[in-house]
Amino acid sequence: MEKNQIFEMTIEDMSEQGEGIGRVDGYTLFVKDAVIGDRIRGKAVKVKKTYGYGRLVEILEPSPFRVKPGCPVAAPCGGCQLQAMSYERQLAFKADKVRNHLVRIGGFQPETLPMEPIIGMEETAPYGNGEMADPTIRGPFRYRNKGQFPFGRSKDGRIIYGFYAGRTHSIIEAEDCLLGAPVNRKILETIRSFMEEYGIEPYEEEMHRGLVRHALIRVGYHTGQIMVCLVINGNNLPNSRRLAEELMKIEGMTSVSLNINREKTNVILGNKMVYLAGSPYITDRIGDLTYRISPQSFYQVNPVQTERLYGKALEFAGLTGQETVWDLYCGIGTISLFLAKRAKQVYGVEIVPAAIENARENAALNEISNVEFFVGKAEEVLPEWYENHEGASADVIVVDPPRKGCDETLLCTMVKMNPEKIVYVSCDSSTLARDLKYLCREGYRLERVQPVDMFPQGVHVETVAFLNAGREQN
Ligand code: SAH
Repeated sequence: MEKNQIFEMTIEDMSEQGEGIGRVDGYTLFVKDAVIGDRIRGKAVKVKKTYGYGRLVEILEPSPFRVKPGCPVAAPCGGCQLQAMSYERQLAFKADKVRNHLVRIGGFQPETLPMEPIIGMEETAPYGNGEMADPTIRGPFRYRNKGQFPFGRSKDGRIIYGFYAGRTHSIIEAEDCLLGAPVNRKILETIRSFMEEYGIEPYEEEMHRGLVRHALIRVGYHTGQIMVCLVINGNNLPNSRRLAEELMKIEGMTSVSLNINREKTNVILGNKMVYLAGSPYITDRIGDLTYRISPQSFYQVNPVQTERLYGKALEFAGLTGQETVWDLYCGIGTISLFLAKRAKQVYGVEIVPAAIENARENAALNEISNVEFFVGKAEEVLPEWYENHEGASADVIVVDPPRKGCDETLLCTMVKMNPEKIVYVSCDSSTLARDLKYLCREGYRLERVQPVDMFPQGVHVETVAFLNAGREQN
C-alpha cells in the first residue's frame, strides 16, 4: 500500500475507537466513519509497515447496520463515533469490547466468563427532542445532563462554539449537540451575544490568549435546575453581571459561575471559582436521594442509565444492614448514600475537596448519619487508615475509579482488609480487566460482570463487576 492509493475493501471489524477495519491483500487499514459490514472505496492517508489509515471516499455497499446519523456534524465531531451504526449493533460492539478486555488483558476464560447481557437504553430523548436535525432519526439521543463547549473563532472571524474535532483541538461548530439538553443552545447563544456585545475574546489555545475557554453546562434531569460555569483565562470577566442577568432569565437557571483557568493545559477546569448569581450548586435526584452538585464535582452524565448502574452496584453489594462499607472514588457521595441506607457504616474517599463538601451536605440533606467522608487519594487514605486502626476491616469495598483504574497500592490494601465482597464500577474495561486479574490472583472470584451503556452513540462503556472472597470454599 502506498500513500494516496485508492483501495476497495469490506469492513470486517471495528477498533476500540470505532474505526472500521478491513484488509487489502493482507494489509490492515483503519477507516474512520466506515461501519462494520460496509463495502467501501477509500484512500490511504497514512501508511505504516504493518497497517495504515484510510479516508472513506465512497460507500459502495452500505452495511445492514448502517443508519443515517441524526447529527449533521457526526462525522467531523469527535464525540459520537458510533452514530452511523444501529443502536443494537452499538450495544453488541460494547459487549464485545468488555469481553475482549476481560479475556485478553484479564486472562479470564471466555467460556466461563460470568458476563450478563449489556443493559442498553431506550431509544428516546430524556431531555426532550428539541429541534432534532431530522425528526425521523431513532436511537437514544439527548440524554446527557452535562456539556462542555469550547469557544473560538471561525476562519471568517465569527465567535463560534462546539466541540473539538476528533483528537485535534480545532473547533467544529455545533449550534446544537444532539446528546445534550435542547436548552444548551439558548445558553450558548446568550454567551455568544454577550461576548459580541462587549468585545470579549474567545481563548486562542496556540497563542494562549483571549478570555473565554469553555462553557460548562449541567441540567438536573429530575429538577430542571441549570448550572452554567464559564471557564476563563483571566481573573475576571468584564461586565460579568450583565451576562449573569441574561442567563438568570432562562427558565431553570440556578447557578452561574466563573472558573479561573490560566494554565496552558488540556484540563478544562482550573482551581478557582467565582460565583456570579444564584447558588454555588444545583440539586438533582437519583432514585429517592437528593444531591447537591458543584461545577467541579463529578456527576454521572446519563441520568437514566445511572439509576440502573447504581441499582446493579447495590444489588451486587447485597447489604443486610450489618456491614462496614468503603466507597472509594466516591465523588459527591452518590453511591455512598445508597449504600448507607442499607449498611451499618459507610466511609467515602474522594480526591476533589469540593466534591467531598457536596458529599457531606448530601448526607445531611438526606438525613443519613452513618457515613463519613475523607478528602484524599484512595491509594493513600485507605492504607493510612488500615495502618492506624487496629482491626480495621471492611465487609464490602466499592471502587469507581477514573479511566486509569486503581493504583496497585490500593488493590494491595484492599486485599489485606479482606472484604467478603468487592464491587468494581468501571468506565474503562481495559483497566478493569487488569485490576480484576490482580484481585483474582489474590484469591477473589469473579462472580458477575454487568456492562451498562451510559454513553449511547459513543464508544465508551461502563461495567460493574462483582468479586467474592469465596470464604465458604476455604
Ligand atoms: N462514584 C462517584 C464518582 C465516580 S468518578 C459517582 O458515581 O458519581 C471517579 C471519581 O474519582 C471522581 O470524582 C474523581 O474526582 C475521583 N478521583 C480521581 N482520582 C482519585 C484518587 N486517586 N483517589 C480518590 N478519588 C479520585
